[in-house]
Amino acid sequence: MRVLLIGPPGAGKGTQAARIAAHFDLARIATGDLLREEITADTQLGRAAKAYVDRGDLVPDDLVITITKARVVKANTKGGYILDGYPRTLAQAKAAHRWATARGVPFDLALWFEIGTEELLARLVGRARQEGRSDDTEETIRHRLQVFQAQTSPLVDYYRQRGILVRIQAVGPVDAIAERICGVLHWHRANALAAGADRPEWTLGSADG
Ligand code: ADP
Repeated sequence: MRVLLIGPPGAGKGTQAARIAAHFDLARIATGDLLREEITADTQLGRAAKAYVDRGDLVPDDLVITITKARVVKANTKGGYILDGYPRTLAQAKAAHRWATARGVPFDLALWFEIGTEELLARLVGRARQEGRSDDTEETIRHRLQVFQAQTSPLVDYYRQRGILVRIQAVGPVDAIAERICGVLHWHRANALAAGADRPEWTLGSADG
């Protein structure tokens, strides 16, 4: 199974990705983590990426595509993967579409984590205090949310048009959100749905329960 997650910073993609990966025995490919590993190891790619990450800007597509593609190709040979933080631009989505169709292994589902801006800011400021990530100051957080709106949110329509978009209400207890997601993935796997443009968008869960 091949699943990707779309959502603003703080929507809980990382937490849910880890759970889904464990539950379905998928590789978890988190592009932000891959970039931070490169930065810590002070590689050429890490040095090129660092200033963008620290500012809360997206790292140029060619760098991100290079590191993510290698992992995706490897994970394809082993039962599938969950992509957390990729694609984040239309160019990245198109690149992923090319690798996938060339190998006959298209994405099964794109999970869109929907959540309000106020809730996000509160979560992110809390996380900044706990983790001390260099890109988690309030100013960069606001900037990253704007970057999401401008550059990543168009992917929602891109995957909706391909008939693989599932909307997840990403508010509420972590366990409840995980259950919704696992439910839809089990359902998808059981039905082995073929992608089709006429498939309606699905909505799972709701903020008011
Ligand atoms: P968050 O979801 O909280 O923004 P991530 O760990 O996913 O955290 O990403 C941290 C940073 O890494 C981003 O702000 C960006 O600079 C960079 N990054 C991660 N994924 C991508 C991507 N697909 N394209 C470009 N830059 C990326």
